[in-house]
Amino acid sequence: MAGAQDNTPTNPSAVRLNLAQFVIQVESYNANVDIPLLRRAYEFSDRAHTGQKRSSGEPFIEHCHEVALILAELHMDSTTIAAGLLHDVVEDTEHSLEDIREEFGDEVADLVDGVTKIGAVKFHSIEEQQVEYFRKMLLSMAKDIRVIIIKLSDRMHNMRTLEHLPPEKRKRIARETRDVYAPLAHRLGINKAKVELEDLSLKHLRPEVYMELVKAVKDKKEEREDFVRAVVKPIKEALAKDGILATVYGRAKHLDSIYRKIVNRKVPFDQMADLQAIRAVVNTERECYHTMGIIHAMWKPVAGLFYDYIANPKQNGYRSLHTTVIGPSNRMVEIQIRTHQMHYFAENGIAAHWLYKEGRQEMSKDDRQMVWLRDVLEWQKDMTNPSEFMEYLKMDLYSEDIFVYTPNGKLIHLPTGATPLDFAFQIHTEIGLHCAGSKINGRLQPLSTKLNTGDQVDIITNPNRTPSHDWLKLVKTSGARSKIRRWLKQAGFEQSLTLGREIVVRKLKTMRVSLPRDETLQEYAEQLDKKSVDDLFAAIGNGSLAARQLVNLIQPEKQKDTVGLVGKVIDRIRGSKGIRVQGLDNMMFRFAGCCQPVPGEEIVGFITRGRGVTIHHSECALAIDLANQSPERKIAVSWDAGRDQSFVVQLEMIVEDRKGMLRDITQVIADVNTNVRGAEIHSGDSTAVGKFIIEVSNLSHLNRIIDKIKKVKGVIQVQRSRRYDPGQ
Ligand code: MN
Repeated sequence: MAGAQDNTPTNPSAVRLNLAQFVIQVESYNANVDIPLLRRAYEFSDRAHTGQKRSSGEPFIEHCHEVALILAELHMDSTTIAAGLLHDVVEDTEHSLEDIREEFGDEVADLVDGVTKIGAVKFHSIEEQQVEYFRKMLLSMAKDIRVIIIKLSDRMHNMRTLEHLPPEKRKRIARETRDVYAPLAHRLGINKAKVELEDLSLKHLRPEVYMELVKAVKDKKEEREDFVRAVVKPIKEALAKDGILATVYGRAKHLDSIYRKIVNRKVPFDQMADLQAIRAVVNTERECYHTMGIIHAMWKPVAGLFYDYIANPKQNGYRSLHTTVIGPSNRMVEIQIRTHQMHYFAENGIAAHWLYKEGRQEMSKDDRQMVWLRDVLEWQKDMTNPSEFMEYLKMDLYSEDIFVYTPNGKLIHLPTGATPLDFAFQIHTEIGLHCAGSKINGRLQPLSTKLNTGDQVDIITNPNRTPSHDWLKLVKTSGARSKIRRWLKQAGFEQSLTLGREIVVRKLKTMRVSLPRDETLQEYAEQLDKKSVDDLFAAIGNGSLAARQLVNLIQPEKQKDTVGLVGKVIDRIRGSKGIRVQGLDNMMFRFAGCCQPVPGEEIVGFITRGRGVTIHHSECALAIDLANQSPERKIAVSWDAGRDQSFVVQLEMIVEDRKGMLRDITQVIADVNTNVRGAEIHSGDSTAVGKFIIEVSNLSHLNRIIDKIKKVKGVIQVQRSRRYDPGQ
């Protein structure tokens, strides 16, 4: 059946793919290889491309054979290899897609169609073209990801034979490979393809650099090999002693990565210590960690250069342990430790999943590469601007960053570990500053939640909500952090200023004295070592200057009579503890009776005339009203309470009207070491309403009590009172 091959009027000396040998190669990894299918595809493409030559002058069919070989090296299934043999038939020969469909069925035809469509796009600008390429590719990948694996194999062979093209075309293809195909291979975890495509792109885009690197690497070959031996041997020996069977070898880093390091880190080539890395491949995950322990015991690890990608795989699914140690002759060396399986997946990525039809691996929907693909497909729908699309896509392809959406589908790019608060500031500073909560994928989630690629984030804003110091711990992005800092600094000063002025006015009022004019105040300010009146009041507000000192200057005689009265009130309030007012020390405060906040709940403070700061629950209706009426009085506060402090809370409950109910409830409260300040039960028809005033140390304490009460026989409902009425 090899007649077609013999009849082709092509260069007989060219190396041709021998079908029998090829089948043996595929069989080595795939026992279920569909030999008749491969044979038919081989013969069909041979006939179809008869007489065609490549730019190099070689028979065109060799390109198809090489692509099939690359696919076999990636351990692809028979269908994909058949489609690889046929991939240029529709584009470059008289045969139509329908011919292929008739001959090979839908699956092969659809794969060929996908590859053909990606290639057929022609656009004006490179950017437009790239974007359209990507879109097409993504769409065909969505239908069947094997399309992109064929396309990558096609590109690998074209890059290997690129020197036969005119220089301009060569550069264009190399650039496209560097910008589109290599990152895509990286994203799909096909390291093999990524490394080769990057090196070949460099070769054609920067030939002089490439040659220099090749030469430099060659020159140091002997020295490098000596060093590798000095590292590998002791590792092997130590592992053998612990009964670990390992393959340990030195591996030259690829030229493009060396080049990038020279450019990015500005390290001259001859000072690059890490031209090669050592790799240890073992059998089990356990052995990976064991091996790392052995190596660290032998050579000191360099702090900060250890990465556990086994516990935390990279976004493209890559798993391995990476460590850098001070090796022999005090030279730093990077060592990668992985299992054989991890190694196989690292090299073949998504292609490693693809013997599904012939029964080896199943592609799981949750594979990272598939998750990524789905996400990109989802957001690319909303992209209309080519440069925007390209920018996001490149970022996503190269970095380990995450992408999330606004409710309108706008894409937001954030670093890994970012929270909804980062997201809010990224959208707009005002949204960040008034961020009150967040919904992730439609569900309310804390602002500290780490976002994942693909999350849809909806920020709930409240004009009265403003940043607090705690926010600094929640954000990951430098932009959000600096905006919060700036706001806190500004707000802290203004709040101190308002408060300081209030305190002084209040004091003077009790003395029936009005506040002096600004010129006079400026004199006093200077006497008290302050630059301005604002600085003077701010100092009083933040507690660094006693109000008495200013009042003494304004009204020396009367001060004595009134200090007792005002001072007593202030001292009593100031004496309480448990709250930290943002940016201000020694702030006076009291708890609002209406909402009875306890530690663990969100709180907010309001500057009250002459009485310092009143603390409310952040959802308290009164607090919200207050904030609307006089937002300038609002101040950020946080809990700073010790375990021994207690807070008064009133509980209301609906219970069955039965004998002993009051006693039973009191008993369970007392059982959790809680002080009961008051209790009563009023009978209704068949039910009764109970009210308990208790002292708790924090929210979890309170919740524990509520849970206990709920378990008492006959208790129907328990809740916090909205109003605490001390009169009861
Ligand atoms: Mn091709």
